[in-house]
Amino acid sequence: MISIHNEPQPTDLGDVRVANRAVVLRHVRLHAPCSRADIAARTGLNKATVSSLVSELIDQRLVRETGLTENRVGRPATMLVLDGEPYAALGLQISADELVAVAIDLGGNRLLTWRRAFAAAAAPPTETMRALAALTRRAIGRVSAQGRTVLGLTVGVPGLVDPTGAVPLATALGWRDVPVAADLRAALRQPSFAVGVDTVANLAALAEQRHGTYAGSTDLVHLTGGITVGAGIIAAGRLLRGGRGFAGEISHLCLDPTGPPCRCGRRGCLTALVGLPAVVRRLLPDTADDDNPLTDYLPELTRIVALARQGDPTVLGGLAETGRQVGRGAAILADLLNPQVVVLGDHLATLAPWLLPAARSELAARSHAPHAGGCQLDASTLTTAAALGGATAALATVEAGRPPALT
Ligand SMILES: [Zn+2]
Repeated sequence: MISIHNEPQPTDLGDVRVANRAVVLRHVRLHAPCSRADIAARTGLNKATVSSLVSELIDQRLVRETGLTENRVGRPATMLVLDGEPYAALGLQISADELVAVAIDLGGNRLLTWRRAFAAAAAPPTETMRALAALTRRAIGRVSAQGRTVLGLTVGVPGLVDPTGAVPLATALGWRDVPVAADLRAALRQPSFAVGVDTVANLAALAEQRHGTYAGSTDLVHLTGGITVGAGIIAAGRLLRGGRGFAGEISHLCLDPTGPPCRCGRRGCLTALVGLPAVVRRLLPDTADDDNPLTDYLPELTRIVALARQGDPTVLGGLAETGRQVGRGAAILADLLNPQVVVLGDHLATLAPWLLPAARSELAARSHAPHAGGCQLDASTLTTAAALGGATAALATVEAGRPPALT
């Protein structure tokens, strides 16, 4: 099993051919359509090596010739693009109130996006894992029926994930010590492909870096919303994981010691201030009480948007205050990491038109470097970002130069 915690890196493999294959695939992904000569010129590999690697990749159906030829002086060159027609990668996402499955092809095009309402926060972990396995089997069935082989899958969980793919703690789900990867592999009867697990924040950051408005950024933070708030951090082009893989856990960063109580037992954590339940409590105080907790916040979120559009002064004031707190959190991230951008996801993206003005002012006012060190603050344009990132992560092995039949 290869989890994305120890995704293969060409330099680790001691295999020049694998590394070169990765270089060629990456070049085609970023610059297609391109010719063999382009690849040789831009990567520094010699033409014979490129030619041999491309033949291999064409045999693997990872790359194909378009039939188009480049309009240039001299012999016309056949252009290459990613193929990947026979393959798919899956991303799954467990949220407090829904399960999501996304399948993509090698080029990152979505083959399916399924969202299933499921109150994971209120269900025992075994029931959630059963529902996740059922959704996964159906998604595998759907892409298999299209004649595609699943290369791998990665599950996003809103909590801590250890290198074995187990979840020691997921406050938003009420989970402790759930062996997600092992359970899912068992439920799928030991699939031939890799099953990875990562945090929804890390996977959303990967999706953002690959498919979002700020794709290609080397230093980017994605703030996930929902029941808890987490940070997925891309630093110097790679996910920042920390010693045990728990980096980015800013959910319980204390912004106000006298603030509202948090599920973790402390007060004024980022989540207790800007998490979706906190926003609903602040803006719609009549909605929920402790005896009747909400498990599905979508209707409330929709109501908040409608009230904000109508110019309701209480809701607008509450959103501006939420925006200031988001900006305070972003200022800490900006000082600590100096990212090019902090991207807001989930409910923070939905509410962004009303949050961003106050959040940007607060970011500028509270970060130390002039102009927040160049850090922008913006809303994600991706839907189901963590599941999309999971599918993207599941392609890591192939993108690292190990095509399926050659592993
Ligand atoms: Zn807390």
